[in-house]
Amino acid sequence: DPRLQGISDAIRVIPHFPKPGIMFQDITTLLLDHKAFKDTIDIFVERYREMDISVVAGVEARGFMFGPSIALAIGAKFLPLRKPGKLPGSVISEAYELEYGSDCLEMHVGAVQPGERVLVIDDLVATGGTLSAAIRLLDRVGAEVVECCCVIGVPEFKGRCSLNGKPLYILVEPR
Ligand code: 5GP
Repeated sequence: DPRLQGISDAIRVIPHFPKPGIMFQDITTLLLDHKAFKDTIDIFVERYREMDISVVAGVEARGFMFGPSIALAIGAKFLPLRKPGKLPGSVISEAYELEYGSDCLEMHVGAVQPGERVLVIDDLVATGGTLSAAIRLLDRVGAEVVECCCVIGVPEFKGRCSLNGKPLYILVEPR
């Protein structure tokens, strides 16, 4: 797809953020590039519009920057999967491991019905720990995770294209 190069070019790399040695993939410059941002949303919408998806679940925080536009365009709802302590209602939680320590994702009880077809979106997949926690949350309430998608994926995942047995769709590799 000729649009992918422009999307990759619009991602800025910030070395040593947030820690020494990390090449941070900054998608805020992609959001500031109208064509690249629109191409990103369009590619996802073209892929998912005929897949009978009723919920787009976005991972805090950068999944929130892409998910709602895709949800509206394909006629789906948007579900925020949030970091601990942010959602006001009753929640279920799934912890996941980070390089140092652990984190957690939460979802409102009753937000998704059993059997609903869900697309999970985040900006970037590295180890897959975050998306795996999202899949576990949705599995627990009987939802059907149709696919996970990310703008950026490390080559290991771009090759493998699967996570916890769920398909994984990635647009570009880190720059
Ligand atoms: P994983 O759980 O797959 O190891 O890490 C993915 C999570 O970390 C995503 O929620 C993503 O937003 C965040 N993340 C890790 N590194 C980067 C990065 O370089 N750029 C951006 N934008 N997000 C990152």
